[in-house]
Amino acid sequence: MDFKSLIRDVPNFPKDGVVFKDITLLLQNPKALNETANALYNLLDGQKIDKVVGMESRGFIFGPMLAKKLNAGFVPVRKPGKLPSTTISETYNLEYGTDTLEIHIDAIEKGDKVLIHDDVLATGGTAKAACKLIEKLGGEIVQCNFLIELTFLKGNSKISNYSVKSLIKY
Ligand code: IMP
Repeated sequence: MDFKSLIRDVPNFPKDGVVFKDITLLLQNPKALNETANALYNLLDGQKIDKVVGMESRGFIFGPMLAKKLNAGFVPVRKPGKLPSTTISETYNLEYGTDTLEIHIDAIEKGDKVLIHDDVLATGGTAKAACKLIEKLGGEIVQCNFLIELTFLKGNSKISNYSVKSLIKY
């Protein structure tokens, strides 16, 4: 399936100078939705996964679909103040300023085999912070997988000590 034909470039969103990859056309197409979930699942090559970790907020779309296919649990990683119970956090640098991600301290058990999933790998800051959170809790990262990788931003290099796979590259 030609996934790229269902991904729309939106210039100057969410701010001037950014070309946003919009996946809503792909999501609203029943065949594309199903085939995308299958293709992301196939990136695992049959490896066993205990928990799929998805990043707020578009990691919450295919993350649970992957978890269901893998017979794994789903764990949300969220922006500060959104998770209700006790959390640990990781702060990372953006072009201007910093951002923080949180995870519940009881979301991962020591030795859990973890798949990290998000819609887009851009600079890699988000994925790297998520990896750090998982490792602080004793999880083992089996793969980081993405629907889209913006290769020109070289996010891959920030998480190069993990297996990084993406369905669609620009
Ligand atoms: P990074 O930390 O720079 O790799 O940015 C990745 C995060 O930003 C992911 O959670 C994405 O959902 C979001 N993101 C960055 N660029 C885009 C885009 O073009 N489309 C959709 N989401 C994006």
